[in-house]
Amino acid sequence: MAKKYGMIVDVTRCNGCYNCFLACRDEYCGNDYPGYSAAQPYSGQFWMNIIEKERGQYPKVKVAYTPIPCMQCEKPSCADASSNKAVYRRPDGIVLIDPDRAQGQREVVAACPYGVIYWNEEKKLPQKCTFCAHLLDKGWKEPRCVESCPTKALIFGDLNDPGTEISRIAAAANRELEVLHPEYGLMPNVKYIGIPGRFIAGEVVFRDKKDECAVGVRVTLSGKGDADKVTNTDNYGEFEFEGLDADKDYAVLIEHSGYSVKKLKVRTNIDTYLGEILLSKSAAKNG
Ligand code: SF4
Ligand code: SF4
Repeated sequence: MAKKYGMIVDVTRCNGCYNCFLACRDEYCGNDYPGYSAAQPYSGQFWMNIIEKERGQYPKVKVAYTPIPCMQCEKPSCADASSNKAVYRRPDGIVLIDPDRAQGQREVVAACPYGVIYWNEEKKLPQKCTFCAHLLDKGWKEPRCVESCPTKALIFGDLNDPGTEISRIAAAANRELEVLHPEYGLMPNVKYIGIPGRFIAGEVVFRDKKDECAVGVRVTLSGKGDADKVTNTDNYGEFEFEGLDADKDYAVLIEHSGYSVKKLKVRTNIDTYLGEILLSKSAAKNG
């Protein structure tokens, strides 16, 4: 079976070290690979881009890093927009911009909804990530970015070979692969694990024991159509629910023996830190 190159990006492993970005710069800045790519300029292009996103509010702030190369789409809109077959998909799935034929074809830049094609004003040329096709054709097993990643956040290989690591990960039942913007309909061969959803977090405090952390308080999260999620506050009285749907209504129920039940409503249009939640002693029963 013909090769089909792909990449899996495990966002949970990416620490934003930028090694992949620098390896890409090292490979392409000032270096022409005739037939594959013209030299990348020293500034303004990000063939492996790292999107850094801050999540939550002080004091509960997290940073998520998402590496974004060309998605190597099976239905590349960039190729459709080019003339003279300047942008084409190879039999192994790699989408290339021919550095000679693409001269002057600025319209190709806007044709990519992922925004991964850059215009080289000096050379009048659209440019992007090539999956290091010039190296693969020489026998390399993976692109420079993948080789340089210290955390194994980038996994590369032949998706049509069941023996490759990428195929094993793709087949593993418990690892759900996602693509960025499936609504574009371009069928990317760069797939993602662990794209962050929304989180809801908070800290529970007993009103009558404000100096003590409220440890082991039961917190239940309910959302329409989902099974309830249950957790207990940790040694700091804190709780967190991760990977939630965006823009959805949830109810947070906080229960502890001897204290009144607290119910909060949260809409996940943003990651939400609820801050200190005070639990009051339940009223003593008569008789
Ligand atoms: S991500 Fe953009 S540049 Fe890459 S193949 Fe898809 S449409 Fe083309
Ligand atoms: S080298 Fe790996 S860990 Fe570092 S930014 Fe790139 S993908 Fe993330």
